[in-house]
Amino acid sequence: MTNTQVLIAGGGPAGLVLALELGARGVACVLLNDAAHTALHPKANAVSSRTMEHMRRHGISNRLRVRGLAPDHPTDLTYFTSLTGHEIGRFRQPSRAEALAEAKAGTGAWASPEPPLRCSQIFLEEELKAKADTLPSVDMRFGWKLTGFDDLEDHVSATIENTETSETVEITARYLVGCDGGNSLVRKSLGIELEGESGIVRPMMGGPMYAAYFRVAEEPDWLPARRAWQYWMHTGDMRALLVHVDSDRLFLFHFAMPDGGDGADPTALIHKAVGREFPLEVISSVNWNAGHSLVAQKYRSGNVFIAGDAVHLFTPTGGMGMNTGVDDAVNLGWKLAAVLRGEGGEGLLASYEAERRPIGVRNVNLARGFADSVGNVEISESVSAETPEGAAERARLKTHFEHHAEFEFVIPGAFLGLRYEASPVIAYDDAVPPPDHPNDYTPNAIPGSRAPHVWLGDDALFDRLGPGYTLVRFGGAQADLGPDIQVVDIADIAVRDLYGADYVLIRPDQHVAWRGDDIGDAVALADTVWGNNPYNGTMISCAGLSNARL
Ligand SMILES: Cc1cc2nc3c(=O)[nH]c(=O)nc-3n(C[C@H](O)[C@H](O)[C@H](O)COP(=O)(O)OP(=O)(O)OC[C@H]3O[C@@H](n4cnc5c(N)ncnc54)[C@H](O)[C@@H]3O)c2cc1C
Repeated sequence: MTNTQVLIAGGGPAGLVLALELGARGVACVLLNDAAHTALHPKANAVSSRTMEHMRRHGISNRLRVRGLAPDHPTDLTYFTSLTGHEIGRFRQPSRAEALAEAKAGTGAWASPEPPLRCSQIFLEEELKAKADTLPSVDMRFGWKLTGFDDLEDHVSATIENTETSETVEITARYLVGCDGGNSLVRKSLGIELEGESGIVRPMMGGPMYAAYFRVAEEPDWLPARRAWQYWMHTGDMRALLVHVDSDRLFLFHFAMPDGGDGADPTALIHKAVGREFPLEVISSVNWNAGHSLVAQKYRSGNVFIAGDAVHLFTPTGGMGMNTGVDDAVNLGWKLAAVLRGEGGEGLLASYEAERRPIGVRNVNLARGFADSVGNVEISESVSAETPEGAAERARLKTHFEHHAEFEFVIPGAFLGLRYEASPVIAYDDAVPPPDHPNDYTPNAIPGSRAPHVWLGDDALFDRLGPGYTLVRFGGAQADLGPDIQVVDIADIAVRDLYGADYVLIRPDQHVAWRGDDIGDAVALADTVWGNNPYNGTMISCAGLSNARL
């Protein structure tokens, strides 16, 4: 019998990030993953700026960047007939080196120290696991699966099984978290349904898809002279997408397969989309389904929480799925740690679903809009023709796709403008937040928002935040908010103006919990932001201070 504080089922991105959040705070956890290794077939390749900010907090963003596309590899979005046919359109995007230079200079679309990264999920998972393996309180058990559990009054009792030997072990934990992917045993065992729409049909990114991961032995002379990150192909009778898994010889092809894709010959499909034959070795191939837009009814039942694909299923446009799951895990991780360390109360745990479920709904809808825009565009069979009609069709599509690429991929509002709007552990003020739009981000420190990034010399303000709450003080009086609260003093008046108050209380996940000019308000709100007040389903506002326990 093993006893732990948190049992995590699933070692994909959500489970691994949860292990990092708990392990970094010394909380004992056991992570189970049924496969003996991290994922081998690539899925996600768009790591968001926000996920990279979390990686920076864990000290692995630089290591991860090295696993992405090479520093000078263009990350353009390109649209073709066949790949060796016409280039229909191209939306230029900075290389890794250019994006980092822009971030340092404060230019570019992403107001973050960490611009988005084009890196395959298979490499991300390896880096997450390598980091989690170094944390003494994290017990990593790859090759073990959760087979069942009982949620008892003050703990969860679970059965786990070694996938090679079939040995079973009983394990008890204070909490169980299901990060066990789209087929989540944990969610299904709790009887929690997914709500929304599934089976949405589009000519591309809606319905059956087929993915082939392959390597080439020779320098690919079938690629355009200016490389890109993604190449979308439209031959008139086929729609496909090619993505660089690395900057060398590894690639991933996705094909829309209206007939279901059974018995597909990946090599023939690849040759057809490229428009010529070349030697290649298929490493793995899978059928998968686009067209999901689903969110779980609940993110928690008793002592059991659920996160990642287990609570939301996306069409992968916009790269929202994994990144949303990472944010779930970050949100839940510090709260579980605070409660298990005796610093926070039940309100913190209640706030997980109150904060994250609306974001799940928001994000699946964003992804759906991106999929409609790229997947539903009508394309005439003349698109490849060397005729005036073909040229006119390509010109029409160029306008569409270049606008689309910006719509789908320049989305700082989606990732940096994320705001928790109805949380029991955030003290709201009267400020009116900017409109929530995926393509626009207006830096602001309105409670509930991600704190805006600023450089303080070579450091980001984020680098100075502590593992718990941090009080950022702009010249105000001394304040004693307790030993676990880090205080950061900033003299820069421009930063004060951006943050909008003399004091700003920032949570471990870098969201603003409270701001104000009177530190007494923060003292009064301490129980609220630590979740120690009973949660009755309402939000707290500074105007409701008289209700807070003094
Ligand atoms: C084609 C494609 C492209 C995508 N591109 C992007 C992108 O660019 N950006 C993005 O953000 N997202 C993208 N996604 C989505 C992303 O891949 C998923 O959202 C992400 O993998 C979810 O992570 P997770 O940890 O929640 O679940 P998973 O990655 O599914 O991990 C769950 C893990 O739990 C294990 N497991 C399951 N059951 C058990 C059990 N009973 N016991 C123990 N272990 C168990 C599984 O083996 C697995 O390792 C894409 C998806 C697809 C299909």
